[in-house]
Amino acid sequence: MWYNGLLDLSVMQLVLVTLVMTHITIVSVTLYLHRHSAHNSLDLNPVLKHFFRFWLWFTTAQNTKEWTAIHRKHHAKCETKEDPHSPVVMGIKKVFWQGAELYAESATPETLERYGQRTPEDWLERRVYTPHKELGIVFLAVMNLALFGVNGIWIWAIQMMWVPFWAAGVINGVGHWFGYRNYECADNARNISPIGFLVGGEELHNNHHTYPNSSKLSRRWFEIDIGWGYIRLFQLFGLAKPKGYRPIAHCVPGKQDVDVETVQAIANNRFDIMRQYRKRVMEPVLRQQKTLMDDEIRPRYRKLKQLLSREVTLIKPREKEQLETVLENYAALRQIYEKSLELQALWRQRGLKPQEKLQALMAWCKEAEASGIRYLEEFAEHLRAYSLRPSA
Ligand SMILES: [Zn+2]
Ligand SMILES: [Zn+2]
Repeated sequence: MWYNGLLDLSVMQLVLVTLVMTHITIVSVTLYLHRHSAHNSLDLNPVLKHFFRFWLWFTTAQNTKEWTAIHRKHHAKCETKEDPHSPVVMGIKKVFWQGAELYAESATPETLERYGQRTPEDWLERRVYTPHKELGIVFLAVMNLALFGVNGIWIWAIQMMWVPFWAAGVINGVGHWFGYRNYECADNARNISPIGFLVGGEELHNNHHTYPNSSKLSRRWFEIDIGWGYIRLFQLFGLAKPKGYRPIAHCVPGKQDVDVETVQAIANNRFDIMRQYRKRVMEPVLRQQKTLMDDEIRPRYRKLKQLLSREVTLIKPREKEQLETVLENYAALRQIYEKSLELQALWRQRGLKPQEKLQALMAWCKEAEASGIRYLEEFAEHLRAYSLRPSA
């Protein structure tokens, strides 16, 4: 006879218990390690914070300083040789299957020293969590065996694989490889799915890399970040305080004048501005041009659509050539592409004084309004309405 443990649960109940426990682990990773510790975009009540820290030690053997340092380094060195886990550099297979090993390899003393600032160094950390990292998961195994009997073994195995698979493999691997991009951030981050539930909202990785200081990872009306749901719930009880999620620019209806604040608001909101430029200018002009395209170019329409709005540093040399060939033949496309680069120069060009930026934006709007391309004219009018403050 199998020993069924103190709780003697049915298989369905065991599956449910496993899913609940692994979900708590995922919530601890996204809220505590990621949003609170690595990005400081969320304040947590000390008791709740400690619960998460304890739970991660108990169920994953994950150390706060190590995780935080490696993750901060990932943002700082994204898609370069120094990125601890870039599928663009190392290949998707390596990051997907060996994500957890990559973490262990990257936790060098230099990385911990440089990127591991502002992480716990209290008595418990120094005496228990750090020196006895693996003790938690040993206790977990004992608890599983006592509560669930022999079934506790497979539950434990799933718990050990959950974070390495979902966070290290899926988010760090697939999240920089496959999915949709709301924003053209400077790295290859992608939103894997608009519903962020299984991995606590981390699925919305393109949004996160674009706005790393926001505690909210969803951006569009159809996107769901379950982690944000928990933050709001904890906030209701005074246990959490989110940061960095409020709008950084406002559209004031009827505003016509371009001023220094307009420039600032546009620069703050640059990723969203470029997304809007894609939707409001590039896509409609491209649709118009499609009818004029010859048989050689039309099959590459989708690719062309992507390239026109792709972050310039991510365009490969061969793609650049393809793009150039098309732009040579279609004047309207060249015009909207050049206007897009000029607009980006507002925040890309270093050393420009606020007044110079203002002049540049005013000139941009004037030229756009005289371009004869209706969508571009309307976009210039839309830009004028931007302000740092909402309308009174
Ligand atoms: Zn990433
Ligand atoms: Zn991050």
